[in-house]
Amino acid sequence: MSFENVSKTWGENRVLRGLDFDVKPGEKVSIIGPSGSGKTTILRILMTLETPDVGLVTVGGDVLWDVRKGDRARETKQTARTRRKIGMVFQQFNLFPHMTVLENVIEAPIQVRGMSKADAVARATELLELVGLKDHMKHIPPQLSGGQQQRVAIARALAMQPEVMLFDEPTSALDPELIGEVQNVIRRLATTTNMTMLMVTHEMRFAREISDRVVMFDQGQVVEQGPPDQLFGSPREERTRRFLEAVT
Ligand code: ATP
Repeated sequence: MSFENVSKTWGENRVLRGLDFDVKPGEKVSIIGPSGSGKTTILRILMTLETPDVGLVTVGGDVLWDVRKGDRARETKQTARTRRKIGMVFQQFNLFPHMTVLENVIEAPIQVRGMSKADAVARATELLELVGLKDHMKHIPPQLSGGQQQRVAIARALAMQPEVMLFDEPTSALDPELIGEVQNVIRRLATTTNMTMLMVTHEMRFAREISDRVVMFDQGQVVEQGPPDQLFGSPREERTRRFLEAVT
């Protein structure tokens, strides 16, 4: 996936400033950086929850956004097609609270993909087993812990068979003792699948462990990027050093 010269402004606030950034197929990339630096905005543009003011965004070689200077972003059929390659796990889980765990996972494959109910249930059952929640299929989200809800959210995103998975601070809303179980699931995806993964995180140790590349972001631009050992072990930029000192 790639961002070419992507900008996004809210009033006077220039959140993304001519961003150039790409992720190779199968690569696992973590984005770190100070609060308000535009990290979540990158993921929201990929999910078509926000539009870029200008720039080109592609996923798997297909155009998601192509907004020329002076134009306004328009969501086309192509945007919708490309968008389906992407799944996202949000900070706050965003499950349907009145549906069972199983219903949450089969909803989109049936409604959006037109999958038969039997196939959707079979696939959902496998995925819920993968995230360790097969015994909770008939429960509704409020009956589950935060860690369990987030694991359902991961299964729900995987049910759409995305090429790219986005994680927006997936453990930041969890009590400390529940973080490990969600990280275990993400770690397993990172090590056993060839899905492209892009994660915004404040968990430096986890980013270091699972990423092929870490990207330090500030003020809507990439400050520096590299393999985790290099970026965490010997950062080149003063801004990265200061940030890492403050958070670790
Ligand atoms: P955090 O680590 O705190 O989640 P972030 O790096 O993910 O921060 P973003 O959430 O991308 O940052 O936000 C970047 C900037 O854009 C912030 O200053 C935020 O206030 C602003 N912003 C985001 N969404 C909107 C919106 N809908 N309207 C106005 N400003 C917005």
